[in-house]
Amino acid sequence: MKYISTRGQAPALNFEDVLLTGLASDGGLYVPDRLPTFSQEQIRSWRSLSYPALAGEILFPFVSETFTREELDAILVDTYSVFRHDAVAPMVQIAPNQWVLELFHGPTLAFKDFALQLLGRLLDEVLKRRQQKIMILGATSGDTGSAAIEGCRRCDNIDIFILHPHNRVSDVQRKQMTTVLGENIHNLAVKGNFDDCQAIVKATFNNRSGLPSDRGLVAVNSINWARIMAQIVYYFYAALALGGPDRPVSFSVPTGNFGDIFAGYLAKQMGLPIEQLVIATNKNDVLHKMMSTGVYDKMSLEASLSPSMDITVSSNFERLLFDVYDRDGAQIAALFEQFKTEPIQFSEQAMTRTRSLFASHRVSDGETCSEIAKLWADCAYLADPHSAIGTVAARVHGRAQTPMVTLATAHAAKFPGAIAQAGLPFEPALPQHLADLFEREERYDVIDNDMAAVQAFMSSHLAA
Ligand SMILES: *Cc1c(COP(=O)(O)O)cnc(C)c1O
Repeated sequence: MKYISTRGQAPALNFEDVLLTGLASDGGLYVPDRLPTFSQEQIRSWRSLSYPALAGEILFPFVSETFTREELDAILVDTYSVFRHDAVAPMVQIAPNQWVLELFHGPTLAFKDFALQLLGRLLDEVLKRRQQKIMILGATSGDTGSAAIEGCRRCDNIDIFILHPHNRVSDVQRKQMTTVLGENIHNLAVKGNFDDCQAIVKATFNNRSGLPSDRGLVAVNSINWARIMAQIVYYFYAALALGGPDRPVSFSVPTGNFGDIFAGYLAKQMGLPIEQLVIATNKNDVLHKMMSTGVYDKMSLEASLSPSMDITVSSNFERLLFDVYDRDGAQIAALFEQFKTEPIQFSEQAMTRTRSLFASHRVSDGETCSEIAKLWADCAYLADPHSAIGTVAARVHGRAQTPMVTLATAHAAKFPGAIAQAGLPFEPALPQHLADLFEREERYDVIDNDMAAVQAFMSSHLAA
């Protein structure tokens, strides 16, 4: 399998090189040149598999030029052994025909562990073989940073640099990053906001003149294909548990950068009977607006109770556009060239296709709080604000005959402020492995909002 860019100009790569890349050189995102598909019979035969065994069946076609099946299976068993629930991704019923798929039992309590625990291990293996060292650079407004650090902390060949906006992430989120004390872990608190952090990362990927030339620079946000790939698995896992493939299942997905729900779309293309995919957004509703109007426009960012979805440009949406525009890279390149200066108006055909694949719903902060309170009152279920947005959208769009699964993307203890605002009379407890988080030693450096300063810091702090 080869990987090609959504903008049609960059060279095709194999899995190993895609793993070690961020953006394609033409500014596009890498996608497989063709998807593996599975028959209903094949999918049915996976019904009793464990999570890592199922992951092996689904992911092997994507990586088979780099890993043998035995190597992949060993990595997957190791990856998902760090999750703190025997089912890895357990399901809980919250209403007739309504389920939540709990994706927060990994080390950092958000679904990003599913992909980043795997990414760290895949990188480690490939770098050992190549005897190569790399730098990872990422910006975080919350969950990505800690999940990336946890995923890569034991990799001797990786220095990981994570930028977060100084004094603008929650205490739990900051502590989850800054209390990991490895020599190769570098937390930088940038004197600016999240957009400033993101801008430094993007600028560095475009111009890395201040960095040592013999080190690769790798992205860990969801433009990295391996992250999307890992997330396909739990759609199959949930559907199989609810009677799939003999019965279609629907999913509601709290959405920011469109990575998680795009993985659901891929599962459907690969043969899993999925009836509906619901894009659930908070007040940063660029995707919901696009679904309603056919226009994709820039918006200004508003802070919400679900900070991990506070995003105004959903990068992975480009991967979907590539498909709905019949994989015409030149057309995608032209659309995003236009987007630099004006909104994109999608073609009628592109919108018809997109609307046949996805529904969308926007949920305000007030509704998020009422939903957290409702779930607690109805069935003593404690939802975090992101997951609660998903369950509202699930109820609005759910159909009587089809099981609806909301992806529960984070643990409530990460967002005690929202739980308090919802009026629940207790503070959600951190799981045992994080219970002493607030007593742990923290380490981070405060740095100016300046790309050159960040690159100079990186060059002088390499430990790997
Ligand atoms: C990252 C994140 C999301 C959004 O996922 P995307 O793949 O960016 O759409 C939703 N909820 C939580 C808790 C997250 O950390």
